Amino acid sequence: MTSRYDAIILGAGAAGMMCAAVAGQRGRRILLVDHAAEPGAKIVISGGGRCNFTNTGTAPDRFLSANPHFAKSALGRYTPADFVALVERHGIAWHEKTLGQLFCDGSARQIVQMLRGECELGRVEYAFGEPAEVGHDGAGFRVGIGARTVSAPALVIATGGPSIPKIGATDIAYRLAKRFGLKLVEPRPALVPLTLGPDEALFRDLAGVSAPVVAHAGKAAFREAALFTHRGLSGPAILQASSYWRHGDTVAIDFAPTRDGDWLVEAKRTQPRASLRRVLDLPDRLAEALASRLQIADRLADVPDKALRAAAARLARWSFRPDGSEGYAKAEVTVGGISTAELSSRTMEARRVPGLYAIGEAVDVTGWLGGYNFQWAWASGSATGHAL
Ligand SMILES: Cc1cc2nc3c(=O)[nH]c(=O)nc-3n(C[C@H](O)[C@H](O)[C@H](O)COP(=O)(O)OP(=O)(O)OC[C@H]3O[C@@H](n4cnc5c(N)ncnc54)[C@H](O)[C@@H]3O)c2cc1C
Repeated sequence: MTSRYDAIILGAGAAGMMCAAVAGQRGRRILLVDHAAEPGAKIVISGGGRCNFTNTGTAPDRFLSANPHFAKSALGRYTPADFVALVERHGIAWHEKTLGQLFCDGSARQIVQMLRGECELGRVEYAFGEPAEVGHDGAGFRVGIGARTVSAPALVIATGGPSIPKIGATDIAYRLAKRFGLKLVEPRPALVPLTLGPDEALFRDLAGVSAPVVAHAGKAAFREAALFTHRGLSGPAILQASSYWRHGDTVAIDFAPTRDGDWLVEAKRTQPRASLRRVLDLPDRLAEALASRLQIADRLADVPDKALRAAAARLARWSFRPDGSEGYAKAEVTVGGISTAELSSRTMEARRVPGLYAIGEAVDVTGWLGGYNFQWAWASGSATGHAL
């Protein structure tokens, strides 16, 4: 026998649970399906186990998408304040870290429990821990789950992106999109450490050293920490830049972001006996590596002004050419995905396939590091939850 629902939501992650809760509480009969035995695996590991659940600075320009206007409608209708109100209703203690990032004081599991509680208020039914097979006929969508088949006039793709496959992430969203004739914006790993080739080996010896920098990739610039690793570069500044980086591009790092103008020549006047290494406001090992690359080992007094100006310019835009990234195994998110040109920005419904919706990371909307990706998951999930 086939059970019939108002909507089947495929993927019980951040967006899918939010969508199910909203639609269920509006009286819709919802089935939430996931191949994992437990929902919200990425929420559980997010924010170092504390879930950076939103960012108070949420604005459309904090998101990458082929259509930068697409996210405005959903983000405007479900704001960080709405999510904070929900968190507070559930008595979950939270704090602001830096740059508007809000985290749980306790555990990210509290957010999963909260969303489950909201789904249960909406009498959402679950089908977890079994693979699902999606089909479509004139009457709507049919999903095979183990031995049974369920059907609904609406199907929501909420299966996220392929980053971190070891916790159950797959590219099923893209496969479904292709099957239904929806275009994709080429997906690639983002918020991911970048790797350096043998010509940058000097910097690989600095594994573990971190420093405040400005990282530039294309037109984007991020003032945060960079971290040298055994394989290359990481830390928030680099993760952010990685979302804008493409194979063959350079990433430029400003190692002296608080200095400007002729600061090295001025340092020569005020501290003539100091070395470059000493005047750089950086960890010792890094300062030494940079000074040796610049071949300025002497006292500043002994270095011509011209050489100091050239060194200051190089330090302000030190160019690296990563040979790759650490890929989906390490990426926090995926840039690209189901093209927004296929979807209504109000409801997330596919224009060409009535009843088919796509939300969350599966869609070509990707946030910066810092709680923006969850805010997009909540906002897009809520938009569809109100439309079902
Ligand atoms: C290590 C890490 C830390 C992160 N920290 C943060 C953070 O602190 N703040 C932030 O904003 N963002 C963070 N993110 C990003 C954030 O987790 C995602 O952007 C967000 O979870 C996307 O929500 P979603 O609902 O679209 O997808 P997901 O939450 O990934 O949910 C997708 C669901 O679909 C299911 N699924 C996949 N394939 C199938 C299939 N074939 N059949 C059935 N079900 C399937 C999965 O099991 C999963 O439950 C982090 C990501 C990672 C990897």
